[in-house]
Amino acid sequence: MSPSTTTKTKTLLGRRTRAPKPLSRHPFGDDDTYSGDDCYDDLRCERCGSGDSGDELLLCDKCDRGYHLFCLRPVLVSVPKGSWFCPPCTKRRQLKSFPLVQTKIIDFFRIQTTKETGQKSIHDTHKKRKRSSSLVVSKKKRKLLPFNPCEDPIRRLKQMASLATALTATGAEFSNELTYMPGMAQRSANRAAFEQGGMQVLPKEDVETLNLCKSMMERGEWPPLMVVFDPQEGFTVEADRFIKDLTIITEYTGDVDYLKNREHDDGDSMMTLLSASNPSRSLVICPDKHSNIARFINGINNHTPEGKKKQNLKCVRFDVGGECRVLLVANRDISKGERLYYDYNGHEHEYPTEHFV
Ligand SMILES: [Zn+2]
Ligand SMILES: [Zn+2]
Repeated sequence: MSPSTTTKTKTLLGRRTRAPKPLSRHPFGDDDTYSGDDCYDDLRCERCGSGDSGDELLLCDKCDRGYHLFCLRPVLVSVPKGSWFCPPCTKRRQLKSFPLVQTKIIDFFRIQTTKETGQKSIHDTHKKRKRSSSLVVSKKKRKLLPFNPCEDPIRRLKQMASLATALTATGAEFSNELTYMPGMAQRSANRAAFEQGGMQVLPKEDVETLNLCKSMMERGEWPPLMVVFDPQEGFTVEADRFIKDLTIITEYTGDVDYLKNREHDDGDSMMTLLSASNPSRSLVICPDKHSNIARFINGINNHTPEGKKKQNLKCVRFDVGGECRVLLVANRDISKGERLYYDYNGHEHEYPTEHFV
């Protein structure tokens, strides 16, 4: 090694030691509670209280508290490669409220500002299905309902601003549809026919209801949902008016990718889209860059009976026109102000079971 090289290296090393630890426990300032590597023996998960499954117990890089991968809501598929911050630490950053300015909100959500069409109750427009499909034997048909927007436009604006605030804080752009980005899975990869064991086909009239929900949102007829910030839960979603059982709350949207490409992903909100018989065809929804309100709806703690009681949504995957789609639907009447929760683990072939307890 030449002397000059040695000097250079020394300088670099010197800089490195003076520099704050990159990203880990620095960016959010305030209390630095890092306590070294010694006291991890009695480490417990903040969610379930158990210290079991240590290899799946994730440590927050700021507060050093533990969380099981499978206790996080949404579940983390694997230990993140880089720094990881627990939900309370992530949300401790200063929240910048999205301006309650109509033009800005219209812009953010790309609302189509055509004259309001007299949107009549569509509840009665469903035609009776006369031709029953030979494959689907419907017993008691339970039709999905479209959400029912608040009448007050200012209130709707506040609901939209609350979502814009949360999306902006998480660095995501609004998209109410699944997105297919270059370099990720293509739309042609999303084939419900690949689903192991088959996928439930969304009945035609429910497809119409889903499409109605989408077009209402495009017009700014927003679902009655408010994104609020809770120091414990982080962002969470509340019903802003009474919501009837079987109401479509939202589709789960985001960038579609192959699960195999995401096995080491930091994304904390991956959602299974397609659980294929051939695992290399399995798809997930990654809502980090594009998403809607779905990613802010929390999961129940399904380790406790109290958690079960909170559940008021179900998350269901459907075959819609041959493609997989994920819907969040009310599974009971929800009163105004109630927080929305679904069971992340509750439905078969929803999530890779190796991550379950
Ligand atoms: Zn746990
Ligand atoms: Zn933390």
